[in-house]
Amino acid sequence: MTGVPFFRLDRAHAELRSQLDAAFARVVDSNHLILGHELAAFEEAFASYCGVRYAVGVGDGLDAISLVLRALDIGTGDEVIVPGHTFIATWLAVSQVGATIVPVEIDLDTFNIDPTAVAAAITSKTRAVIAVHLYGQPAKVDELTRLCQRHRIALIEDAAQAHGAAFQGKRAGSLGTAAAFSFYPTKNLGALGDGGAITTDDDEIANRVRMLRNYGSRIKYEHEESGVNSRLDELQAALLAAKLPGLDAKNRRRREIALRFQQGLSGTPGLVLPHVAEAAEPVWHLYVVRCKSRDALKVELDRAGIGTLIHYPVPPHLQGAYARTALNSLSLPRSEAAAHQVLSLPMWPEMTGVEVDRVIEAVNTAARTVTGSHA
Ligand SMILES: *Cc1c(COP(=O)(O)O)cnc(C)c1O
Repeated sequence: MTGVPFFRLDRAHAELRSQLDAAFARVVDSNHLILGHELAAFEEAFASYCGVRYAVGVGDGLDAISLVLRALDIGTGDEVIVPGHTFIATWLAVSQVGATIVPVEIDLDTFNIDPTAVAAAITSKTRAVIAVHLYGQPAKVDELTRLCQRHRIALIEDAAQAHGAAFQGKRAGSLGTAAAFSFYPTKNLGALGDGGAITTDDDEIANRVRMLRNYGSRIKYEHEESGVNSRLDELQAALLAAKLPGLDAKNRRRREIALRFQQGLSGTPGLVLPHVAEAAEPVWHLYVVRCKSRDALKVELDRAGIGTLIHYPVPPHLQGAYARTALNSLSLPRSEAAAHQVLSLPMWPEMTGVEVDRVIEAVNTAARTVTGSHA
């Protein structure tokens, strides 16, 4: 039986090859590679897709988060609440602006930030909460919005895994004060290299990020702030614009695959399947199961040729990056349990039905092997 890789891009690129070639040719012929029409057109299209007034393209997802923080004047002495289980970029962005990271626990059923834990962590120094829509499922933004409004603090979405996801019918990117997206190649909307964007309805935030991403300059060679160089280039913008119209169909296919996984794996021993929260419309960036014998399950699946990954094996507070800080000695039992138990199955829209069934069959067999149960 042939295996199924965790991820592959070649089929997606083959489908879109002529549009990608046309985008490339247009940029080459335009003779204009940075901050031009392609970026402006993509920003307009992406803002409209998210249901907001502004999108501003930046270099990557990490910069998108840190530039939103800077645009909100968040820095030294300010506290920012983040989930204990996320990709480390969410935390590093807070570190970059010099603010204090305040990690809180997640709900283990959705892997997203727990609003009750957020409420308990708010102090007079709190300036923002970063809600990560992890694995493509929106966080509980209704409760988080109420909390943030009551305390007059910003709700920042880390929407790097949630292009097209919705909560109560509103899309990720439009659910908070501002949002940060990544267009890393494997995200639901991916460039052919690095890329990112911020989205917001707030013209001050949009204008400030536009200035900060370009050396703190609004007028050429006038630098009102010490900005950074973090621009989404014309080529990536053109390639993203070519891919955006297909995003909804790709997300629908991910939903179909997730549904088949839910059905095919519902009786599997030792496996906890993803839970979709009320009012949330996830886009299944990843399909993540929990298993107490996760490492053994992964070995069995490797043996069967089914690619899996762990998102993420070590929580940020236990990473070397925070070894010399007080964060390192924190205890976040739910975030740590997630790190020990999560396993991401292959989830990419171009998987065939046969491949999806192959994954289901292999996971069923592997789970029975590691739990010692028999079919
Ligand atoms: C990918 C990702 C980022 C960072 O994006 P880059 O473009 O790689 O910098 C931030 N947060 C989350 C949750 C991500 O998955």
